[in-house]
Amino acid sequence: MPLEQKTFFIGGEWVLPSSPDRVTVSSASTEEVLGTSPLGREADMDAAVAAARRAFDDPCGWSTWAPTDRAAVLRRLADALDARADELTRLISSENGMPLTLSRGLEGAVPSMLLRYYADLACSVPVEERRDGLLGRPAVVRREPVGVVAAITPWNAPQTLASGKYAPALAAGATVVLKPSPETALDAVLFAEAVADAGVPDGVVNVVPAGREVGAYLVAHPGVDKVAFTGSSSAGRAIAETCGRLLRPVTLELGGKSAAIVLEDADLDSKAVQQEFVAATLLNNGQACFASTRILAPRSRYAEVVEAVSALAASLTVGDPLDLDTHVGPLVSEQQRDRVEGYIAKGRAEGSRVTVGGGRPAHLDRGWYVEPTVFADVDNRQVIAQEEIFGPVLVITPYDDELQAVRLANDSQFGLAGSVWTRDAEHGLEIARRVRTGSFGVNRYMTDPIAPFGGVKASGIGRELGPEGLAGYQDLKSVYL
Ligand code: NAD
Repeated sequence: MPLEQKTFFIGGEWVLPSSPDRVTVSSASTEEVLGTSPLGREADMDAAVAAARRAFDDPCGWSTWAPTDRAAVLRRLADALDARADELTRLISSENGMPLTLSRGLEGAVPSMLLRYYADLACSVPVEERRDGLLGRPAVVRREPVGVVAAITPWNAPQTLASGKYAPALAAGATVVLKPSPETALDAVLFAEAVADAGVPDGVVNVVPAGREVGAYLVAHPGVDKVAFTGSSSAGRAIAETCGRLLRPVTLELGGKSAAIVLEDADLDSKAVQQEFVAATLLNNGQACFASTRILAPRSRYAEVVEAVSALAASLTVGDPLDLDTHVGPLVSEQQRDRVEGYIAKGRAEGSRVTVGGGRPAHLDRGWYVEPTVFADVDNRQVIAQEEIFGPVLVITPYDDELQAVRLANDSQFGLAGSVWTRDAEHGLEIARRVRTGSFGVNRYMTDPIAPFGGVKASGIGRELGPEGLAGYQDLKSVYL
C-alpha cells in the first residue's frame, strides 16, 4: 500500500481517520510534494488513548510481562527498524532537510540502538528490591510501569527523538500514544509499519500524527498517565501548565541557545577539531536543540577566532540533503526559513557584523535554504544571542577572561548544552563543572545513549536516555513487609 493510503495505527490496526483533514508534506530541498497524511482530530486521540489504556490495563497484558519477554519484542522492533533504515533516512532527509550522512548515523541507527540498550537494561535492572528496614522489618521497593504515555515529538530528528521516549517506556512496561509533527508525518507511517511487523502487542504502540491543538488535547486526556514532550520552550510551558493542573508527570525536552567557549589554548587549526566544531555548532543545518550557536571568543585571539569560524562556515557544502557530499541542507519549511531570515535581519538591525553568509545560496533556486551565517561583535544581550534561531546562524561574542566566559555562557534563559574548546581536556572539564546546563562537551558535542540528556532553566524538566531515562517511565512503590 502506498504510504499516503496508510492511516492511523491504533490498537494494532490501520484505522481510518475521523476527519478528512490531511497535511501535505513537501520536500525541503525541491519543494515538491512528497505525500499527504491524515491529521488526527480529538476522536482519533480518544481511540488511540483507549487502545493504549486497554493494552496497559489488561491483567495479563504488556505491563505484567516479564522484562525478558518485553525485551524480545523491543529487539524485534529494532530489527524491523534496521530493515527500513535506508527508506526511513532518505524520507526524513527529504522531509526536514537533514543531510543524509547525518540521517544515516542518527535517524537510521539510534532508534534501534536505543531499543536494544533498553531491552538489555530492562533485563538487568531489578523490578523489585528488598531492603532491610531500620525498624526491624523489611521493605520491598518496586518499579512499576507508569501507565499510558503521551509522547509528543518535533520534526527535526523525528525517529531519534521518538525512540528516546518509546524505547524506555516500552522497556518499563508502559504503553504509548505517539503524536509526531505534521511536518514529518510520513516517516511516522514507516515506524508504525515496523511496529506492526515486529508483532508488538495490539495497543502497546499507537501512532497518530496531529497538529498542536490536538496535541494539547492529548496532553490533557484523562486516559493519559504521563506526558513526554520534546519541542519548543513555549509549547513546553503550555504543557507544563496543563500537567501542573492535572498533577500529571511530565518530561520536557525544550529549546536551547548553548555556548561554545573557545579558550585561549584552543587548537582551531586541527582538521579533527574543526570537524567536531562544525558538528557541535551547525549540526542538522542548525536545526538541533543542543547546537552551540553562541561562540565565546577570548579577546586576545578574537580576530583569529572570527576568521577561523567564518572560514569554516564558508567552506561547508550547501545543497541537496540526499547528496553524500552535502554538509548543510535546507530548513524544514518556508515558514522556518522566514523565521531564520527574520533573525538575520534583526541581527543586522542590531548592528552586528555579518562575516559570512546572511542570504540564500545563489546556486540553489529551489528549497528552503539559508547560507551558513556568522555574526561577529555580538553583545550577549542582543536578541540573536538570547533567542533560539534554529537555523545555520552562529554569533560570536568576545570575553576578557574565563570568569567572564562562564558568566556569559550562563547568562541565558536556556540551559540545555554547551561545549568548550581547549588543548587541556582536564581544564575543559573544570569549565564544564561551572556552566549550568544539562550536558556539556569538551572538544566535541554529541549525546550518548548511556548518559542522561535534558535541560535546566527554560530548556526543560527531567531527563531522557541512560538508566535515568528508564526510571522516568517507572513509578516507585514501597511495600512494607
Ligand atoms: P513545537 O513546540 O512547535 O512542536 C513540537 C511538537 O509539539 C509538535 O508535534 C507539535 O505539534 C506539538 N505541540 C506544539 N504545541 C503543543 C501544545 N501546546 N500541546 C501539545 N503539543 C504541542 O517545536 P518544533 O518547532 O516542532 O521543534 C523545534 C523545537 O524543538 C526547538 O525549540 C528545539 O530546540 C526543540 N527541541 C528540543 C529537543 C530537546 O531534546 N531538548 C530536541 C529537539 C528539538
